[in-house]
Amino acid sequence: MNENKDNRKRYTNALLFGLLLILIFNAVIMPMLNNQPVKDTEYSFFLEQIEDGNVSKVEITDNEVNFQTKDDQKYSTVRIDDPDLVERLNDKGDIEFTGVSTQQSPLQSFLFAWVLPLIFLFALYSLLFRTLGKRMGGLGNAMSFGKSNAKVYVKAQTGKTFADVAGQDEAKEALKEIVDFLHDPDKYAEIGANLPKGALLVGPPGTGKTLLAQAVAGEAEVPFFSISGSEFVEMFVGMGAAKVRDLFSQAVEKAPCIVFIDEIDTIGKKRDGQIGGNDEREQTLNQLLTEMDGFDGKKGVVILAATNRPESLDPALLRPGRFDRRIPVELPDLAGREAILNVHAKKIKLTDGIDFNAIARATAGASGAELANIINEAALRAVRNGRSAVDQSDLEESVEVVIAGYQRKNAVISQQEKEIIAYHEIGHALVAAMQKDSAPVHKITIIPRTSGALGYTMQVDEGEKFLMTKEEALARLATLTGGRSAEEIIFNTCTSGASNDIEKATKLARAMVTRYGMSSTFDMIALETVNNQYLGGDTSLACSPETAARIDDEVNRIVKNAHAKAVQILTDNIDKLHELAHYLLDKETITGEEFMAILKPEKSLV
Ligand code: ADP
Ligand code: MG
Ligand code: ZN
Repeated sequence: MNENKDNRKRYTNALLFGLLLILIFNAVIMPMLNNQPVKDTEYSFFLEQIEDGNVSKVEITDNEVNFQTKDDQKYSTVRIDDPDLVERLNDKGDIEFTGVSTQQSPLQSFLFAWVLPLIFLFALYSLLFRTLGKRMGGLGNAMSFGKSNAKVYVKAQTGKTFADVAGQDEAKEALKEIVDFLHDPDKYAEIGANLPKGALLVGPPGTGKTLLAQAVAGEAEVPFFSISGSEFVEMFVGMGAAKVRDLFSQAVEKAPCIVFIDEIDTIGKKRDGQIGGNDEREQTLNQLLTEMDGFDGKKGVVILAATNRPESLDPALLRPGRFDRRIPVELPDLAGREAILNVHAKKIKLTDGIDFNAIARATAGASGAELANIINEAALRAVRNGRSAVDQSDLEESVEVVIAGYQRKNAVISQQEKEIIAYHEIGHALVAAMQKDSAPVHKITIIPRTSGALGYTMQVDEGEKFLMTKEEALARLATLTGGRSAEEIIFNTCTSGASNDIEKATKLARAMVTRYGMSSTFDMIALETVNNQYLGGDTSLACSPETAARIDDEVNRIVKNAHAKAVQILTDNIDKLHELAHYLLDKETITGEEFMAILKPEKSLV
């Protein structure tokens, strides 16, 4: 309905604007087009011309005399009180003359005096209120004050079902009960069971929270009100609360139905009681809390919400009777990743014999959204290469594109630097291969990427890993320091290329000391807490400054040991290091098999 109104308004505005243009055109432009240049002249000249019989036409207005000579030149002169003028003109016989009143016709003056200003004012008014109204959530139209945006509500069917969501079986299981409830609320009411009013989907970005909510709506075949938390945030105190009220009154009307509030942390943040806190947000939250208590749970209104910052939510939101059910939507495991790849691969053409398991293994830690992106990148690459179906190489390359960016084929890197990069990468790979607790090398490349990586070594575990042993952590540290170690041994220097390795090694070593209890100095003490579990996982220290200093020492010691171990491994295998580095320099990209064939020729022959 609102949309119709908007359209009508737009048409009226266009019409008025057109009218205005025509008026201006008539009043200003037309006279300009009609008239040839008019020369100003003296009255005596006018009389002279009459005497000489040169004048063909005269127009006498209230204060001007306009005349035209026989050679079609137009003149204008000031009118002088000249009672004989008419007689003189009449005497000549062949002069056409008329008097013209400069006063506008009544219609014209009416238009100019009344209609034009009105139109102008009206245009100004509607322009002002349209922009203001948008900002203030519909102030322009007094009736829609504080209404939640209607377009959000239109979507009744999402077209998504649980089949579109791969993996996430536990989440689906929990949501199926809700779907069942929406199908048949009476079944639950008979026993007297109350289904949770709300369920909170929590997990890292891109794991399919929004998708799951849409699937629930699709499965339940009920209206689905979707609104994002940020849409409640308004400029004026009280507007967000009004929107919440409106949302719930509509939902109760349409029950059974689902209300989905995406990114609920925008309004659901803890009320911290600081003076001068965010009044608008707190009011909106209070309204939400009240509404969730207010409606009858047996009616069949289920509220889903999604967030990736559950720890920042107000405890009142999470108590029983509100969002009491928490559904974790975690990053997919190996089987989950393979399933997600399969779901998205259905939309594209594939060649036979694609090994999705290999791709899933190479993408540990990737979210559903990233996996969907990998499939799409592969399809794009196939098109770019003029093929009609996606093959394994497209998928493998697109994994790297998503991890490290596109290849920078025309980056110019000097031979000297290339050599350093090659030794650096082989350093990583060799240290990894020589320790039994590290994942096998999958690929080594020294083609630079748009992410800034100059080369990298990809390690892929054979199966899914849920735990990390201390040995594995130490092996990983040694591998990370392997690149720098190779630079030191071969070139007797170190480069800035190891900065990313250093960052990762420090992070891992710190976690070993402060969170995993893997150091010899500290026992099982949590020295750090994780703040944003799902968003980067930054940590904050929870110990005295003295302890912090000891942590730093311990971290340093662990990394130092790993570094020494890497140097040892590389010096023991220096021949292989040279051989492999030159092979890599030559080929630019080598696979794990090629690598192993050079490293252990006797083994790969068997
Ligand atoms: P978020 O958890 O951030 O809300 P979305 O639900 O918006 O993530 O997911 C983004 C996209 O990622 C989806 O549109 C879908 O294409 C893909 N995706 C994520 N998880 C899955 C999954 N489990 N199965 C299939 N596709 C998924
Ligand atoms: Mg989302
Ligand atoms: Zn490195």
